Amino acid sequence: MDSSRVWRVYLLGGFVVLGIFMLLPYGMPRDVLYVVIGLCGVVAMLVSAARFRSAVSLPWALMGTGVLMAVLGDGLWVYYEHIAEVNPFPSLADGFYLLEYPIVAAALHILARRRRSPADRESRLDSAILVVGLVLPYWVLLIDPRLDSDGPVLTRAILLGYPLADALMLAGLVRLLTTAGARTPAFRMITAELVGVLAGDVVFVLVEDPQGFSLSLGVIPFLTAYLLWGAAALHPSAPDLLRATPEAAPSLTPRRLLTLTAVVLLAPGTLIVQLAFGLELDAWAVAVTSAALFMLVVARMAAMLRRMQEQADRLDEIARTDTLTGLPNRRTLDAQLAREYERAARDGAPLCLALLDLDHFKRFNDTHGHQAGDELLAGAATAWSLVITSGDMLARYGGEEFVLLMPGRTLDDAEHLLAALRVVTPQGQSFSAGLALWDGRESALGLLRRADTALYAAKDAGRARTARAAPAVTPGGPPLEPTSLTTG
Ligand code: GH3
Ligand code: MG
Ligand code: MG
Repeated sequence: MDSSRVWRVYLLGGFVVLGIFMLLPYGMPRDVLYVVIGLCGVVAMLVSAARFRSAVSLPWALMGTGVLMAVLGDGLWVYYEHIAEVNPFPSLADGFYLLEYPIVAAALHILARRRRSPADRESRLDSAILVVGLVLPYWVLLIDPRLDSDGPVLTRAILLGYPLADALMLAGLVRLLTTAGARTPAFRMITAELVGVLAGDVVFVLVEDPQGFSLSLGVIPFLTAYLLWGAAALHPSAPDLLRATPEAAPSLTPRRLLTLTAVVLLAPGTLIVQLAFGLELDAWAVAVTSAALFMLVVARMAAMLRRMQEQADRLDEIARTDTLTGLPNRRTLDAQLAREYERAARDGAPLCLALLDLDHFKRFNDTHGHQAGDELLAGAATAWSLVITSGDMLARYGGEEFVLLMPGRTLDDAEHLLAALRVVTPQGQSFSAGLALWDGRESALGLLRRADTALYAAKDAGRARTARAAPAVTPGGPPLEPTSLTTG
């Protein structure tokens, strides 16, 4: 049969059998049917685990083994009730039942660990907050009242073991639900039935008359769970339990925020209910849980702040850098120019600026393609960056134009540097440059304009050369000197 239909047939057939189970009168055939339903789920899980032969096999095998423990417990009960006709407590069956939880919890922890990126600290903290907050009601309702109960140590240990085992599985489920991995149908079936089993356990323990209740409606969560385990294992998405979703970054969605708030409020809520109804106060449990929750929430805030700071730094970096060449962009150049102006004015040191423009770049693009043009731009930026010193700054001004800011260099010095850049320009290409020396008064715009005019002069004179800009014209200043050219 087509594998995409097997799970449907299994699930539908399973529900029909479940209906038959509900209609059967109390007796051995009915309870054997219960065991058979569980066994089918176990077989489906273990067969799938063996079939997958990948990292997902281990969690499936563990879940199958865990559920097998519960089925063995069910089987023992059939023997006790219908063959030996005893009603022992505690018994070996309790041992099997209790083994299910740590084994399934181990599988859930493995799934959570493999689905989560190691850097996902915030989701880890979220799951810790949820586990600590949710364990409190388990403690107050199920664990604490049993601590004082009389009876043999083994009986008390088994009685305590059930809620503790539930809490363990709950922790695994919460960890799994806070991962960013894909929510496939198999994943949803597993989480749905775990929620059902956990809820069923609580109802089973809290309801005083387990016999009358459990044999009718109370067993539905457990039977449904057996069916869902099998259906999940047979579903085509079963091998994808470890698949992560692309958006790895944890996000504090409104739903998650609401859940965290509700869970954190369980601690004061417990005290309020106990005070309002005059119940015995679990002051210590609430105090310890609250302290743990406060610390976790603060750690959560710190983790989020750190991530936001990292994002802000990254955005800042992106805003200051040209993507193609990795050079500082025009915005960064403007800021640096303002700083260099201040320094040059203070120290009286020369400040040279050159505007570089690749020659016949359009022709290069047209001949070799736009992508080759991009590679030339990036290659030139890298090659030039290796030649300039840490005091100089090369920025992409736009298109195939670059600005080289050279604080502390004289015009001669700057011209030598430009000649050195020309030698390393990749793929036999050349550039023209307009070079200007700041006069100590003109604006950044004025300096750039003079360099630009000189660049045009270099182009007009035949390209592949540097032209020095005419000195700045200041009101009442000396007359304009002609632009001078070098082919360095
Ligand atoms: P000249 O020697 O006079 O400077 O001629 P040119 O062809 O280099 O100059 P022109 O201004 O005519 O053409 C510049 C070309 O640069 C046109 C444009 O398509 C190309 N260009 C601008 N930015 C990029 C880019 O990021 N990547 C690529 N591949 N081409 C770009
Ligand atoms: Mg140009
Ligand atoms: Mg050009």
